[in-house]
Amino acid sequence: MKSTFFFKQINSPFHDPVVMVRFRREKKAFLFDLGDISGLSVRQALKITHVFVTHMHVDHFIGFDRLVRCLLNRAAPLHVFGPEGILKAVQNSLGGFTWNLVRDYPFRMEVCEIRADVHLRAGFYATEGFSRIDHAPSPASEKVISTGGITLSACIFDHGIPVLGFSLAEDSHINIDGAALERKGLVPGPWLAAYKTALREGRSERVFTVGGRQYPMENLSGLAFVTKGQKMAYITDISPTDENLRAAVELAEGADMLFIEAYFLDEDIERARARNHLTAKLSGRIARLAGVGDIALIHISPKYAAVHEQVVGEVFKEFTAKGNP
Ligand SMILES: [Zn+2]
Ligand SMILES: [Zn+2]
Repeated sequence: MKSTFFFKQINSPFHDPVVMVRFRREKKAFLFDLGDISGLSVRQALKITHVFVTHMHVDHFIGFDRLVRCLLNRAAPLHVFGPEGILKAVQNSLGGFTWNLVRDYPFRMEVCEIRADVHLRAGFYATEGFSRIDHAPSPASEKVISTGGITLSACIFDHGIPVLGFSLAEDSHINIDGAALERKGLVPGPWLAAYKTALREGRSERVFTVGGRQYPMENLSGLAFVTKGQKMAYITDISPTDENLRAAVELAEGADMLFIEAYFLDEDIERARARNHLTAKLSGRIARLAGVGDIALIHISPKYAAVHEQVVGEVFKEFTAKGNP
């Protein structure tokens, strides 16, 4: 199965975490976290349509100004999603500049603040000098985006402050078994698209006309098989609490790729607790319990730069360990 989306980690794990996701055949790109993005070319930055900010600590948000500057002349809007406080952070960042000369520019930003009980929304448009225009809030939902064959989910973690973790999952694929069609003497045609939709939606009452004959859904079993879609998860800056670990395993469940911090070594667990970060061992455990395919480390304390392999070793020892926690 061909990949639907492609990941690129922009910085080394000792620098600000930033991951870009591009989509096959689609003019959109997602950016996870908005720390130092000087490693992105202007060409790459211009592709970004959605930004998912875990929290506004400086190493996760300092790239905001740079991105706005790159996109000022772009017609396509930018969608920004972040935790409690993102609307204020965007408003304050934009408020630090003078915008009297941008009113002819097309750039628009739509910002969504994801809280446990509600999603707050506001727009910031160049034509309005980037003043904040509040929109109606929407009900809280784990699924932030669910369209075009993908679902982006957000989960609120504790990092001393609310922090978002994200997963991006492609819908499962329904594949038609050509040999099974032939065995039943069914001619392929446009009815197969409707059949797939009925399967996806569990519409067992549907009846299909194939070659002039009527076939109720129950007579068409065994014609299709389902394959899982691609999935990635992005989790960083979360306290090493049982509740966070449980939620992280759930968010990353079955991901092909998990982008995760390994901020401290296990020997520094007390420091990890005090600074609200995971240890390498706990990150490996999350990956193992979630059954992920692979891990990319995105955020390691610079103090371990000389012992990078030790950090990686601790993660993978736990990831590949047999048995229960
Ligand atoms: Zn951080
Ligand atoms: Zn942080």
